[in-house]
Amino acid sequence: MKVIFDLIECRNFLQQLREQGERIAFVPTMGNLHQGHLSLVAKAKTLADRVVVSIIVNPLQFGPNEDFSTYPRTMKEDIEKLENMAVDLVFSPSEEVLFPYGRDAQTRVTVPFITSELCGASRPDFFCGIATAVTKYFNLIQPDITVFGQKDFQQCLVIKQLILDFNFPIEFVMEPTVRESDGLAMSSRNQYLNAQERAIATELYQRLQYIVQALKQLSPEENFPQQAHSLCQDARFKLEKLGFAVDYLTVRHQQTLSLPSVNDSPSDCLVLGADMLGKTRLIDNVVITG
Ligand code: AMP
Repeated sequence: MKVIFDLIECRNFLQQLREQGERIAFVPTMGNLHQGHLSLVAKAKTLADRVVVSIIVNPLQFGPNEDFSTYPRTMKEDIEKLENMAVDLVFSPSEEVLFPYGRDAQTRVTVPFITSELCGASRPDFFCGIATAVTKYFNLIQPDITVFGQKDFQQCLVIKQLILDFNFPIEFVMEPTVRESDGLAMSSRNQYLNAQERAIATELYQRLQYIVQALKQLSPEENFPQQAHSLCQDARFKLEKLGFAVDYLTVRHQQTLSLPSVNDSPSDCLVLGADMLGKTRLIDNVVITG
């Protein structure tokens, strides 16, 4: 497994692979790898001849009061995990290499509409930071396929739109959320939770699941958007009673993230939630399948 920190070296290495006709799959990460990340790598391996994983704590996607400086960085362990999975290339440039003119001078990429709500509403720089960094990675790596996690559902739609708008010849693949045994979605940020918080952290997922089950059982005569709204209000109230500060908890259309209309069926939609539990931001979602 190659570990490359330099842009030109990365480009040259991948150019050689491409000349040999090899298909390249790319999994972008911020490191501190867990089974969620590794499931994306495993999927990538089934889809391409070579797999590239980036490890970059992207400063552009953190707000001024967020956890950029304390975000867990575990490069040595990450490299071991990826080596065990026989990944071909780990690309991990420093901030200076990636943003040679400084992060504030970096040209930005903005994906409109889909970024204005949900996580975008409470984290105004977040999706622009992600879209900008991912555009850079796509240009450098020029993968045939990229694999992202459903846990960050809104991010998946943003990247899909970015691929369409910039005509990147890249196939987008979304993989299901990997969970702890109690249902909590795996996340590098879960380690910020103290023991009390960790014990109740799964409640977000439990509430989302409850809403999904209730919506699946609606009869066609019932008003789906209204029921969705009241189930979400109820879940929000229950979570707040437990000490969660709910950012959003809402049923949205799977393609557009718009609120459902009476013509939508529950199986077109998903339930998304984000909250703060103490200092930790938790996000999750469950798709409503037919
Ligand atoms: P991150 O390192 O948090 O930026 O995540 C890198 C990629 O891993 C993104 O595509 C995430 O959606 C994905 N990911 C993070 N957590 C999980 C999880 N629990 N299950 C599946 N994919 C995940």
